[in-house]
Amino acid sequence: MKKVFNFFFEIEFYLKIAISCTIVQQVFYLLLNNIDIDFITRVLLYWLLSSISFYSIGILIEKGIKSNDFLRDKLTARVNKIKNQPFPSFTLQGIIIGEIKAFLSALIILYLAPEVHRGNSLLLNFGWFLMRIVAADLCFYIAHRLLHTRLLQKIHLKHHEFRDSSSFVAGHKSFVEYIIVAIADILPIFIFGYDITQLCAWSVIGNAYNLEGHSSLSIFFIPSDFHDLHHTSFNGNYGIQGFWDRVFNTLNPPTKKQGIMFPVSFIEYITIKSSISNDTEKT
Ligand SMILES: [Zn+2]
Ligand SMILES: [Zn+2]
Repeated sequence: MKKVFNFFFEIEFYLKIAISCTIVQQVFYLLLNNIDIDFITRVLLYWLLSSISFYSIGILIEKGIKSNDFLRDKLTARVNKIKNQPFPSFTLQGIIIGEIKAFLSALIILYLAPEVHRGNSLLLNFGWFLMRIVAADLCFYIAHRLLHTRLLQKIHLKHHEFRDSSSFVAGHKSFVEYIIVAIADILPIFIFGYDITQLCAWSVIGNAYNLEGHSSLSIFFIPSDFHDLHHTSFNGNYGIQGFWDRVFNTLNPPTKKQGIMFPVSFIEYITIKSSISNDTEKT
């Protein structure tokens, strides 16, 4: 029974991402549908949206949710106790360098990837996002696992300086790792092609689950104890979530702490609770 729920739990993550992306894509379609946007405007749009969503979602989690004692206690997903490690405050130089990197990668991605218009068909977009997240998870799994080999570990140590004390650890990585992870993230685009409205939706939702994964909370997409365990034990849990780790036998099982609306963990909780009370009634 537990195995079935584990599987549903991982599928639930993929579905949540695909559904959320599809909804956000419809909004971008409404906004951009009648506008003819040239290449450089597309690059600017994609870059600005990625940056603005990264900082605003991160600030929302760090300054909004975490400063509210009730929400922080309710949503915390931390398993192992760690020493408090405040994330360094942002410097102007750091932000400018980060933005130059983000702008250049937006420019390169849109220049190289094939553009395909997919309109606003719900099914077509949902299918694209579903394939995209499963493929991106696999690509990230492979890249991240390689970064933990002795040969490449050096590149990845900067990211492991922090044990997930802040959502912004998501963006704390060396330049080489930044390039490797960016390639793993966009590789599926080269196979499936991109539509600018899809890319915009993907960057917003991608930032959301990436920041949440490092937040030490369980909010909506992914309880952060999965990636917390990776940071505290330095091996296992190489994927965005557990699916590929289960396939390749590298899973360090998380607790599946409920966040806001996690139907599968809620159903599992009820089922297990009722089976326990049935057992105690029988004895
Ligand atoms: Zn790692
Ligand atoms: Zn991390």
